Amino acid sequence: MSRTTAKEDETSGDLGRVEKVLGLEFRDTIIGGYIFGLPRDSKPLVGVEYFISEAAFNECLDASNRGAQRMVDHEGWLDPEQGFAEFEMSQMAINPLTRKASEFQFDFHPCGHPHEFEPPTWIDQVNNFITPVARVTSPDRSTCIEISPNTALCPVPLDGRTGRRPTDSEKVRRSATLKIFVHPPTTAQDLTRRSRELANSFLFELSTRNRTHFALRPKLSRLVPKQSYGPMNYNVRFPRSVVPDNVSALFSMPMSISARGNTTLSFLYYYQVLEHYFPTIHKREAIKKIRRIIRSLDFNEGEDQSILKILNSAERTKGESDGDQLRALLEYCVSEEKLKQFFTLQGDAHFGSKGPIQGGVRPILTKGKDLPPLHSQVASRVYQIRNRIVHAKDDSRFEESKVLLPLSQEAMALRPDVDLVRLLATEVICNGR
Ligand SMILES: [Zn+2]
Repeated sequence: MSRTTAKEDETSGDLGRVEKVLGLEFRDTIIGGYIFGLPRDSKPLVGVEYFISEAAFNECLDASNRGAQRMVDHEGWLDPEQGFAEFEMSQMAINPLTRKASEFQFDFHPCGHPHEFEPPTWIDQVNNFITPVARVTSPDRSTCIEISPNTALCPVPLDGRTGRRPTDSEKVRRSATLKIFVHPPTTAQDLTRRSRELANSFLFELSTRNRTHFALRPKLSRLVPKQSYGPMNYNVRFPRSVVPDNVSALFSMPMSISARGNTTLSFLYYYQVLEHYFPTIHKREAIKKIRRIIRSLDFNEGEDQSILKILNSAERTKGESDGDQLRALLEYCVSEEKLKQFFTLQGDAHFGSKGPIQGGVRPILTKGKDLPPLHSQVASRVYQIRNRIVHAKDDSRFEESKVLLPLSQEAMALRPDVDLVRLLATEVICNGR
């Protein structure tokens, strides 16, 4: 083996290690460093690239050799050997910690952690300003929580366009991440739990006490992308649908920027559209039943028994649960053909019994003998998911009531159910009058 090949082997081994610790894929070598991108097999929603300088590359290698790893549920990484966790964050509003820096005081004390910013101040050479690093220390000085510019393992994405060489200022751009330092070092499992708890508490208090709104970033690369069912219609027509104001507002929300990627919220908006039509269908069903009694051959308005039949029927429909009302609505508005078409295109990886949405949520079974009617199966599933999103009673004794949280793995996989409830909402708007 020639020396060049040995060197190449060594580099490709290093590249593989850095790819693993960053959760990214190597794309190219450029002056001063490397370009990495989101893994292609994860089918990312957008093409995003990162510049990793040679120094950052070496830092990643060192971290990898120490056993550092990406987090499972969030964007960020854990370094158990150093008792260190770093979360990437989304900033939800203007950050007073930067804007009114001189007015803030931070509850920090001398500690034994290897903090990059010591004293806790950051000199931003790109924008030429000095800003404090938000750091607080526990009373026993074993733990620090800090919001400061990212380390090499949480690189900042380049401008949206891929395949473009980064500018010099882009190469040194940094963005705030939340860092947890604990002492002594601990296991990955313990560090995951403690860092999550500390990050949650800190961000809650920053929001409620300091009007500084950040959120941890869930692993969006796992988000199942939206699919389109059926062919696109190229005929733009004068509208015939009748859409009430509040239904229109609810139906448009899941497509807005604010709800993008928020599958649980999108699911609820579409569910609320269905709920809007409950009373209409409920009345229609009740009238249909009473009319049937009145038209029956043995009905006699002079007999108390006959009148009681009407009364009992009205009582029964009044006591119908939301789940029953949903089933009645779907039976009335959505054809079985539409449902079958949807599940045929979808396959059973998601809706089958081994699908990613568990916690007592019923699968949809389309092949087999003695299956419950498709409308009932769909109504049960939609209603169970709705309950798991809105009922926050997280009690392990009742698996069915286990809450489905916005940033959970199940929420990231929920997209096909959102597509289903969107289809139901569409059909109900068209046929529910
Ligand atoms: Zn510290």
